[in-house]
Amino acid sequence: MSEYTDTLSPIRWADEPKSSYDVVIIGGGGHGLSTAYHLATRHGITNVAVLEADYIASGNTGRNTTIIRANYGIPESIRFYQHSLERYQELEAETGAAILHQTKGIVWLAHTEMAMRTERARAAMNQACGAQTFMRTPDELKAMIPQLDLSGGGRYPVLGGSHHVEGATARHDRVAWAFASVAARHGVDHFQHTPVTAILRDGPDGRVTGIETPRGRIAAGAVLSAAGGRVTQVAAMAGVRLPVRTHPLHAFVTNDYAQGFPIILASTELACYVSQTERGQMLIGAEFDSQPSYSRQASFAALRSFSYKITRLLPFLQGMRILRQWAGICDISVDFSPIMSATPTPGFYVTTGWGTWGFKAIPAGGEGMAELIATGRPPALIAPFSLDRFARDHVLADAGSAGTR
Ligand SMILES: Cc1cc2nc3c(=O)[nH]c(=O)nc-3n(C[C@H](O)[C@H](O)[C@H](O)COP(=O)(O)OP(=O)(O)OC[C@H]3O[C@@H](n4cnc5c(N)ncnc54)[C@H](O)[C@@H]3O)c2cc1C
Repeated sequence: MSEYTDTLSPIRWADEPKSSYDVVIIGGGGHGLSTAYHLATRHGITNVAVLEADYIASGNTGRNTTIIRANYGIPESIRFYQHSLERYQELEAETGAAILHQTKGIVWLAHTEMAMRTERARAAMNQACGAQTFMRTPDELKAMIPQLDLSGGGRYPVLGGSHHVEGATARHDRVAWAFASVAARHGVDHFQHTPVTAILRDGPDGRVTGIETPRGRIAAGAVLSAAGGRVTQVAAMAGVRLPVRTHPLHAFVTNDYAQGFPIILASTELACYVSQTERGQMLIGAEFDSQPSYSRQASFAALRSFSYKITRLLPFLQGMRILRQWAGICDISVDFSPIMSATPTPGFYVTTGWGTWGFKAIPAGGEGMAELIATGRPPALIAPFSLDRFARDHVLADAGSAGTR
């Protein structure tokens, strides 16, 4: 647990938007805020506005289960997420904010020979690309997680699993406010309750020239969509069509369990996972809704499905009460990898496709997008995630690493 003292000053709020900014960022979630932070702190670009339709971190950034990991299945993703994981380890010192970062390790269980093969391949690929993931036997898993039922309730026997030792969690809203506060100190303006209702374009190439809000028009040199599950609507305002669909994802917490569950446990075959919050609650998530929707309404079907699966693995959860349940809407790309990119509309950028896995990417995603916007060139770590990969048929298919389908 972090022992870092929080030295964040209260955020400096701007009164009214200026008539013009070098960069306007649509969306005050983790990716928008992190991009603004990196523009200001790494590139000296401070004439930046972040416009948030609701309140800061009201989207998925304030609704997620905060798992940080790099145990992906393809080299491009492993390298990118490993860099983000390492940035998280340093973020408290860098921002002066106590984000409650905890390295816990994450275990992905396998219940079939097929899944064992997948996890062995994952561990080998992770090690080759710099992430620490190792195979564990059932006995080793039982020693690590005494509460685990190795028979899986007689239905999902545990044959082994991969152990990603640097897996971690951090307090999501504190991460968002850490980036916002430091960026504001550098001169970035943040506006809550300010939805972008139109993107203005001009000239023969349809270049983006600004945006419109209920508070008026704002001119912009560049516009970034960091709009989470609303991205297809926002991109359409700039004439851009994306290979993204929005699906709800649910989570819930139980009442407190005596602190004693120090690891993050998941089964990708069952698509469910659990960790313990710093308050002691058991935080449980699972598969996203197969039906695309913008609804953030909690569903009993999700609760029943998640509870059934997770209690096969951890029977002690059957005796606990459900305290709260909620949902977020996730921008899921067709290849299950993010899109960090310029677009065919000059001056319009997107950071999207964060689906059910984008919290862990907030430091590295914002860092990469800031460099792309500041220099016009994507850094090597995010270059493979450009939008034109779909037209070039260079998709980064990695659905098996999402852990939520
Ligand atoms: C239940 C759940 C569990 C999850 N668990 C994990 C996890 O354990 N690990 C992990 O890595 N990821 C997880 N995720 C995914 C992660 O939360 C997201 O990928 C990440 O937060 C995306 O950040 P973002 O900044 O792109 O989007 P968001 O945080 O959704 O921010 C987008 C913002 O844009 C605003 N906006 C939209 N339209 C407009 C507009 N027109 N004008 C102005 N503002 C606008 C929205 O109000 C919103 O605040 C989970 C998600 C959910 C829902």
